[in-house]
Amino acid sequence: MERFFVETLGEKTFRAHQVMKWIYHRHETEFGNMTDLGKALRAKLEAHAEVVPPKILFDKPSADGTHKWLLGMDGGNGVETVFIPDRTRGTLCVSSQVGCGLNCSFCSTATQGFNRNLSAAEIVGQVWIAARHLGNVPHGIRKLTNVVMMGMGEPLLNFDNVVRAMNVMRDDLGLGLANRRVTLSTSGLVPQIDRLGVESDVSLAVSLHAPTDDLRTELVPINKKYPIAELIAACQRYVARKPRSTVTFEYTMMRGINDSVEQARQLVKLMRKVPSKVNLIPFNPFPGTRYQRSDDADIRAFQEVLQKAGIITLVRRTRGDDIDAACGQLKGQVLDRTRRQAEFRRRLEQGGDHAAA
Ligand code: SF4
Repeated sequence: MERFFVETLGEKTFRAHQVMKWIYHRHETEFGNMTDLGKALRAKLEAHAEVVPPKILFDKPSADGTHKWLLGMDGGNGVETVFIPDRTRGTLCVSSQVGCGLNCSFCSTATQGFNRNLSAAEIVGQVWIAARHLGNVPHGIRKLTNVVMMGMGEPLLNFDNVVRAMNVMRDDLGLGLANRRVTLSTSGLVPQIDRLGVESDVSLAVSLHAPTDDLRTELVPINKKYPIAELIAACQRYVARKPRSTVTFEYTMMRGINDSVEQARQLVKLMRKVPSKVNLIPFNPFPGTRYQRSDDADIRAFQEVLQKAGIITLVRRTRGDDIDAACGQLKGQVLDRTRRQAEFRRRLEQGGDHAAA
C-alpha cells in the first residue's frame, strides 16, 4: 500500500496508513467517505483503485451462535468461512483454496475437487466480512479474536498468498490480531512447515488423525510422501524456533477406525516427542461417507489415556451442525477442475460402502 501511494499516486506513505485504517478498522469501502483525505486525493484514489470485498452469496447464523458465510470469489466459485464464538474467544475458520486437491478420505471438502488458489485479498477478505458483521474494532470491540486457516484447502499449498494474508491479519493497521491468535493448520507438508518457520511466526496446527503410517496414509494420503516421523521432526524444528510454543494436533475421531485405547497409547508416544496439545474432533458425517462418529464413551476413554500421560487434550464440541458448518463439513461452491465430484457421485450412485474413499 505504501509503495502504491508513493509510486502510483505520488503521495506520502502516511496516506496509505490512513486508508488501511478506513478499510480495516472502520470497514469503509467508498473512498468518497474517507473524510480525512483531501478531495483531490479521494478523486485520485477513485480513478486508480477500488475496495472490493468478497460477495456474500449466503449468510446463515446457527442457533448456537455459529455463523457461516458462502463468499463468491469469481464466476461459479465460492468458499465457506465460519465464525465460532466461545465463552472467552471468537474464532473464524478461513479458507485458503477453492476446494482442495489433497483428497483426504474423511473430508467433505475433498469430495468437491479443486479449482484454484485464493488470492491474498480473497483470504483476508473473508476476515474482513466477518469483522464488519461483528463490528470488530482493533484495540476496541473484539468479538473476533482468533483466526484459524482451517477452512477449505491446504494453506501451505498456497504459501505466498496465505502468508501475505496472515500478515495483514496481524498488522496493527490491518486486523490487529496477535501472532499466537492466528493459526495455520496443515495436513503435513514438511518442506513448507520449515519455510513457514522462517517466514512467519503464527501458531501451527497439524491434522494428524492417526498414530501410525499405514492408517494415516489411508486417511491423509499426503502421508505417503511425508510420513509421520518426518512430520514430527518438522514440528520439532518449528517449535524450536519459537520458545514456549506448542503444536496443536487435530485428531478426528472415527468409530472403529482410529479411536481405540491402543491407538491412544500410540498417540501418546508421538506426542511426547514435541511440545503439543491435542484436539479431538468427533467426526461429522456427510452424505456418502463410509465413516461414522466415534461413540462418546470411546472419545472419553481416548481422552483419558492422553490426559493421564500429561498431554493437554480437548474434545471439540460440535458446533453449527444445523448449518453444515461443523469441522470437515465445509463444501463451498467449487467449479471442479479435477473431476473428483463426478467420480464421487458415480461411486455414491453405485451405492458402494466406500463411496468417499
Ligand atoms: S482435510 Fe484439509 S487437506 Fe485434507 S482434503 Fe480436506 S481440506 Fe484438503
